[in-house]
Amino acid sequence: IDFRKVQFLLSAHAIGQLPAPVYPDIAFAGRSNVGKSSLLNRLVDRSNLVKTSSKPGKTQSLNYFLVEESLYLVDLPGYGYAQVSQQTRQSWQGLITEYVTTRSTLACVVVIIDLRHELKQLDRELVDWLRYLDTPYLPVYTKADKLSRNQQMKNAAALDAGLTLTADDRIIFSSSTGQGLDSLRSRLSGFARS
Ligand code: GDP
Repeated sequence: IDFRKVQFLLSAHAIGQLPAPVYPDIAFAGRSNVGKSSLLNRLVDRSNLVKTSSKPGKTQSLNYFLVEESLYLVDLPGYGYAQVSQQTRQSWQGLITEYVTTRSTLACVVVIIDLRHELKQLDRELVDWLRYLDTPYLPVYTKADKLSRNQQMKNAAALDAGLTLTADDRIIFSSSTGQGLDSLRSRLSGFARS
């Protein structure tokens, strides 16, 4: 499928506002500032389709995009932003928990992780939870361009070990250089409605 044939559909602030489940959902999750908007924009080859919220952690909405007539891309609110209140954090968790556990057409959660850093507990918890729920997920290690190839391999191996993954289970990515873009597109194409 052609990810460039994309259109914004809606922002849902509650589960009742989601579009009819006629296409599979690919959801994108990650800590605030991890590079989720940049990855999505690169995926669909638009410079600014997905706007970065100036105040991370503030947007509590699920943003839906339709690709061709074959799948939805769902931009989930970023998590782990330290400056948000307990209440905001809980409402994030509530919305995401309800979404992931009730959306029957959820085909895959792309879990975006910064390749430069050690595994964060929240990322590990998200992956564990998706495994527990039996929800397919795809870890993507981003900002690879900020590291040498050698360091990329080292850091990726450490994240793999922390998440108990093998190299085939995840993608090393850069929104700046497009590294990993073909792999990401081909993996996600597999979820599209034929
Ligand atoms: P979001 O909060 O997860 O949506 O993160 P953004 O996509 O807004 O990215 C946060 C910051 O990281 C921005 O300054 C981006 O330009 C930068 N960034 C995101 N992805 C990459 C990448 O792959 N390489 C580099 N060098 N910078 C990136």
